[in-house]
Amino acid sequence: MNTKTENKICEHCKKGFEISSEDLNLYEKVGLVVPGNCFECRLKQHLAFFTFGKFRKGVSDLSGESLITILPNNPRYPVYKSHEWWGDGWDPFAYGQDYDPNRSFFDQLKALQEKVPRPHQLGKNNVNCDWCDDVWESKNCYLTRCFLQCENLHYGYRVLWTKDSFDIVYSFKLQKSYDCLECHDSFNLNFSENSRDCIDSYFLFDCRNCQNCFMSWNLRNKQYCIRNKQYTKGEYEKKLKTIKLDSYKNLERLKQEFEEILQKEAIHRENFNLRCTDSVGNYMTDCDKCVNVFSWEQSQNCRNSLRGFGSKDCIDQTVTWGNELSGNNSGVSGRAYGLKYSSWTDTSRYSEYLDMCVECEYCFGCVGLKKKKYCILNKQYDKDTYQKLKEQIISDMKKRGEYGKFLPYSMALCDYNLSTGTIYFPEVRKEEIVNKGGYWSEEDLSSHDGILSTDLPDSIKDTPSDITSKALICPETQYRFNISPTEYEFHKSRNLALPRLHFDQRILKKIRKTAIIKAYPYKCFYCKKDTSAYYPSEWGYKKIACEECYKSRIA
Ligand SMILES: [Zn+2]
Ligand SMILES: [Zn+2]
Repeated sequence: MNTKTENKICEHCKKGFEISSEDLNLYEKVGLVVPGNCFECRLKQHLAFFTFGKFRKGVSDLSGESLITILPNNPRYPVYKSHEWWGDGWDPFAYGQDYDPNRSFFDQLKALQEKVPRPHQLGKNNVNCDWCDDVWESKNCYLTRCFLQCENLHYGYRVLWTKDSFDIVYSFKLQKSYDCLECHDSFNLNFSENSRDCIDSYFLFDCRNCQNCFMSWNLRNKQYCIRNKQYTKGEYEKKLKTIKLDSYKNLERLKQEFEEILQKEAIHRENFNLRCTDSVGNYMTDCDKCVNVFSWEQSQNCRNSLRGFGSKDCIDQTVTWGNELSGNNSGVSGRAYGLKYSSWTDTSRYSEYLDMCVECEYCFGCVGLKKKKYCILNKQYDKDTYQKLKEQIISDMKKRGEYGKFLPYSMALCDYNLSTGTIYFPEVRKEEIVNKGGYWSEEDLSSHDGILSTDLPDSIKDTPSDITSKALICPETQYRFNISPTEYEFHKSRNLALPRLHFDQRILKKIRKTAIIKAYPYKCFYCKKDTSAYYPSEWGYKKIACEECYKSRIA
């Protein structure tokens, strides 16, 4: 048992950082090398392997079949259509390499990675979800990433069990909703944040079990409130009729008012953890003993991790779920056990340095394998030879200072500025990534061939349906985008102004509020007690409350 904290200098950013005794104990339990870089630098590197990308058309390197993908234009690896990748029309052993003790293992693994195909889209068991990525068991979704069991969801990001909704980020179980962030179990909820169990409402912040409310905050079990003021049903309906959501200018004014309420009026709690015990972090639900963990559900004893659920005894995990006794992985899913230093690997056990493998065990440094055992660099060995060669490689890697480090930046799947890393580390610049061997895109993706979206008619009422056949230019990114016929119908039927920004820009701007992974010190607005919260000072939130003061004010 470690009882002392270790103080280190980060190998990447050169800043001092601490590794707590609890971290050290979990590294030992999982069997990981104690990292030489700080939490932020570890996370930054993991996220380099998680493409956000930009949807584009392309063709399969196997069949020439057309495809839609978020992978880069000229990737370092072949791209196959997903059904081809999952099929048996290719053999990952065809790319097998002998281990060369005179070369860096990472260099050899990278050479292998560049030969083995990857699927054009992550995910399985979908119907009509071509313009999507990281999509699982979903139907009729469009321009959406990272979601499971959704139907008719357009422009979503990290969404579960949601139907008939548009512009939804980090939300579970919504129906007929629009423009929501961190909202759950709600129906016809619009322009809202951090709210649960709400119906037929607009511009809600931190509300629960509210119905027919407008521009309100910190409410519980209310009906017919506008700007936190109680009205009768008749008054509410009359007032609501005068609010013009069909006008873009008016909608922008309302959004501005909402932001000002967040700054001046709303009470902000230390964190948005729900039903958690002995845990530190934010946006955790049903977690026990999870520390320095963010956007994480139904887990026990996890540390230093971002985005996942259903895990136990895991550390340094980024975008993983269903893992046990695993660590230093990125994008690893489905009942992994004893898995380390791996990326985009599914249901694998007792393995290290896997990339894009499925149901493997006792494998080391492999890419694109399915249901294999005792393999190294995509070559099959018997159990004893595997064990001996693995030990030799680990010993060689230790001499080169490679062993125990995550896959290098040079193996990242896309340019860093098109990876999920930019969501959490928007301040990162090209030099930093390139100096570490990573990639950065200078490609100009802007376009001038279309109508500036700011020139659209102000009201949806004056916007004809043929807008869906026109190319629009986003004023912030200059990216070209379209209004889909389904989207137009949705806005028209609800009398909501059309968006003016490119769909990815809408998602990326919204996400920032849930992407803070550092606690800032504050004094509670009410009792002046020292507290910490996940709100950077530039957001200008005034009423940040400690948990006791928050609870005493909001039932
Ligand atoms: Zn660092
Ligand atoms: Zn207080």
